[in-house]
Amino acid sequence: MTDLHRLSIRELSEGLAGSKFSSRELTEHYLKRIAKIDAQVQSYVTVTPEQALAQADAADALRQSGMANVLTGVPVAHKDIFCTHGIKTTAGSKMLDNFISPYDATVVAKGKVAGLVTLGKVNMDEFAMGSTSESSYFGATKNPWALDHVPGGSSGGSAAAVAADLAPFATGTDTGGSIRQPASFCGLTGLKPTYGRVSRFGMIAYASSLDQGGPMARSAEDCAYLMNVMAGHDDRDSTSVNVAADDYVANLNATSVKGLRIGIPKQYFNVAGLDADVKARVEESLKKLEEMGATLVEIDLNMTDAYVPTYYLIAPAEASSNLQRFDGVRYGYRCENPVDLTDLYKRSRSEGFGPEVQRRILIGTYALSAGYYDAYYVKAQKVRRLIQQDFLKAFESVDMIAAPSAPTTAYKIGASLDPVEMYLGDIYTIAVNLAGLPAINAPVGFDKDQLPVGLQLIGNYWSESQLLSVVHQYQQATDWHTKRAAIAEETV
Ligand code: GLN
Repeated sequence: MTDLHRLSIRELSEGLAGSKFSSRELTEHYLKRIAKIDAQVQSYVTVTPEQALAQADAADALRQSGMANVLTGVPVAHKDIFCTHGIKTTAGSKMLDNFISPYDATVVAKGKVAGLVTLGKVNMDEFAMGSTSESSYFGATKNPWALDHVPGGSSGGSAAAVAADLAPFATGTDTGGSIRQPASFCGLTGLKPTYGRVSRFGMIAYASSLDQGGPMARSAEDCAYLMNVMAGHDDRDSTSVNVAADDYVANLNATSVKGLRIGIPKQYFNVAGLDADVKARVEESLKKLEEMGATLVEIDLNMTDAYVPTYYLIAPAEASSNLQRFDGVRYGYRCENPVDLTDLYKRSRSEGFGPEVQRRILIGTYALSAGYYDAYYVKAQKVRRLIQQDFLKAFESVDMIAAPSAPTTAYKIGASLDPVEMYLGDIYTIAVNLAGLPAINAPVGFDKDQLPVGLQLIGNYWSESQLLSVVHQYQQATDWHTKRAAIAEETV
């Protein structure tokens, strides 16, 4: 079979269960595609063919014995921020170019229990800091829709791999938009769950109070399958919430679009820099949801202007603390011939971290230092609470809030944008992390250059099922999520 990569996760599951193809055939098919196509896309940092084929054979044996799960034998790509036992885990950094994790992240371990086959590890902005995947030590990943454009970031490798059909779905992480924005730039569906829904154990920390893992795939249905694997309480993550996870696949039709009240924040659609095509496509998708029975309600989110400054204090503050552990002593990069301990710290960190990571460490250290702590960090935490309250007030009168995922479509590679301009591009995603809410991106069409546009739906706490369900119904009524980039159509 030459078109296995065109099948949805449900079709893959059914095909494996019905012995239409084996996991080995499916895995070999994806490995062949990666070998042929990924040189152009550069979505993978590490491909693990031996391990993948061994896992595929084990999956086929389980199928034979009648002990298989729904996803046994289905391939996945993991963002290179999730620790994988015995396999290099880099977080896109020179600092961890030599790091072989001694254990699996909970998300990876759960994937193994579910029978998923790991194809490899995919690229990302260094330590998940960025919006383009260009800050990776391993080079920029390309957007499958236009190879001279970025796939977004930080989960750009995950998005590009799925959009080029080099993996049926992928894990991502979202600290301030890193699942939703690359999903938007690459025409995919991506879910950022409620903070605490997916275990952070073994997920290399960027900003611990904001980081959250989630699924990236073509459709809400495909995401629901991966969400069923990823979600759940974990004793090894103290911020993992002990609330039972839903069956996201079973709930795909549980929420009706009829009668759904969708809030349209006035402030969001008047942001300077909101691209006209993005605005038009998002408004068309909302019109479609209205036709399907939703009610659009104009709402106020008055804290919008505070999002970027608040996030860009809190995220770097936490990052500066989290990244202290990379000191050249215990693991990771160590400089050559240090003259003393201070020199070892200084040079290992200066040589091991790229410029964006160093910038954030400096900002964060400054904001946390005595004398500035109250003026910056404590103030930002207070504003963070106001941002959360703004959302909760909105949810008293609406069920969901709609927004673009990003003000523009994918940037040109190298166009980058001075750092502050890049930070402003996070305006629609970062408040969701500050508030700990769930949100989803769904593809809703293209701009004049044929680059994908995404709609973001933000829900109240624990509304992952509702978000997936609404997008699923939208996708039953439209076909944007089925569109494929030319490179994904290449056969091998
Ligand atoms: N672009 C944002 C940042 O650079 C978000 C990144 C993320 O979600 N990991 O911090």
